[in-house]
Amino acid sequence: PARTRFAPSPTGFLHLGSLRTALYNFLLARATKGEFVLRVEDTDQTRKKEGAEQNIYESLKWAGIFWDEGPVNGGPHGPYRQSERLDIYQKYANQLIQSGHAYRCFCSRERLAQLLASAQRLTPPSMATYDRHCYHLDHSEPEGKASSGEPYTVRLKSPEKYPRVNDLLHGELDLQVQVNYADTRYDDPVLLKTDGYPTYHLASVVDDHLMKITHVIRGEEWLPSTPKHLAIYDAFGWTPPEFAHIPLLTSLEDKKLSKRTGDIGIREYAMNGVLPEALVNFVALFGWSPSASIDQPQRKRQNVGGEIFSMEKLIEKFNLNGLTKGNAKVSESKLEFFNAHYLKSLIDTPEGLDAIARKVQPLFVQRFSNISNNGEKFELDYIKQVVSLFKGKVHYTKDLPDEASYVFSEFPDWGNSASMNYIEQLSVQNEGTAAVSILKEFLAWLNSGEKPWTPAEIENFIQSLAQEKGYKSSIVFQSLRFAISGSIPGAPLSQLMILLDKENVRRRLVGALG
Ligand code: GLU
Repeated sequence: PARTRFAPSPTGFLHLGSLRTALYNFLLARATKGEFVLRVEDTDQTRKKEGAEQNIYESLKWAGIFWDEGPVNGGPHGPYRQSERLDIYQKYANQLIQSGHAYRCFCSRERLAQLLASAQRLTPPSMATYDRHCYHLDHSEPEGKASSGEPYTVRLKSPEKYPRVNDLLHGELDLQVQVNYADTRYDDPVLLKTDGYPTYHLASVVDDHLMKITHVIRGEEWLPSTPKHLAIYDAFGWTPPEFAHIPLLTSLEDKKLSKRTGDIGIREYAMNGVLPEALVNFVALFGWSPSASIDQPQRKRQNVGGEIFSMEKLIEKFNLNGLTKGNAKVSESKLEFFNAHYLKSLIDTPEGLDAIARKVQPLFVQRFSNISNNGEKFELDYIKQVVSLFKGKVHYTKDLPDEASYVFSEFPDWGNSASMNYIEQLSVQNEGTAAVSILKEFLAWLNSGEKPWTPAEIENFIQSLAQEKGYKSSIVFQSLRFAISGSIPGAPLSQLMILLDKENVRRRLVGALG
């Protein structure tokens, strides 16, 4: 069983990339019957943003990502908010000082700024900026300078050579931090700041260790920090967890995500009508594929690679072998595809239908109450029928009013070309098939009242008309659908006719015939 964690900094709202990080860690924990920990990394108090922590909780829950241990619900390794763990970091920093792996640095800001400037003047500029001035002080006495109240940081005594990173996705990497020991500059990363807060490096390692984290899945932007983390594990004599650094999300043009290309908050997606299942399915496939570890013929046989994955399916299929370095391009049309799929399945359930109908009801009223004074059309029952009829025809709930507008208007929009009416257009499209006679035949049948007005009888009549007159039945459907709705693809015809009711259909056919 894996113990994983999602460790956001509350510096902003949850975005697509961090949702994916959270999701993969959650899935690995669930897939291995392990635990998933939420840890809030709020040690940079200056970058903390009001409401961010709450937004992260809400966004995760909305997406169906629940954690076993975290700041609010607690757990055996708490507290889970780093600002509440300061004494722990101090204790461990002291431990490293005692063991000679770290030391107090009393250098002033000005001195450090000078060292930094001179390191940057080198060609190539050096990452190593510190001259170990304070390393040579006597650190055996916990009293002395430190207890006189002089501010200090705690620095790691960086190793001669940083450990190699063995990443689950990237393999073995020698990310040698560029240090030129010969010129007596060192990269001795700060572990504890002058205000007593830990840096990300110390807090992350101490917490991952104490919280017994076995796997860290995080964004590639943290890869350069990993050698430092490994050095800290070494200094403590601890075994590090496994790491997998996943590719950053990019736009279709391979650029950094922008507001326009998907770098928007998860709550904003929700507000735009994106369903949680759709967003989860969408982000799950950025850098993970169920078939990545399966060879081609086997893939065909098992028919894997189908793209619809509910959370349940993801939990069942998720494994680390499926992580890939590519495929992290965010495509709006793919999200539309997933949303349409999940919207359709939602509408297929009675509760889902009810929820969507309630959501669009005000949209319909707002949009159509000036063109239809038929109050019944705005009642929930009627709206439900409309929603059912148009399921599968829209990507988002908010597209329903556009799609269904011809249900509410007196006549559909048959096109505004005065020189060529709709029937002529249709006849031309159908190579002259007598659309007009189809409408007339249907109207005569409707007027006769021979058969009850039901979907089955309507379809029977259409089939028999096609057979008797030798028309393709698709042509009969299209002619009638165009006359009634003003569009050729559209809602299923017989149900649409029932929804509009017989009188209304009659009026439309008469109107269409002119
Ligand atoms: N607090 C870091 C972040 O905001 C966590 C990085 C990590 O997962 O180690 O992304």
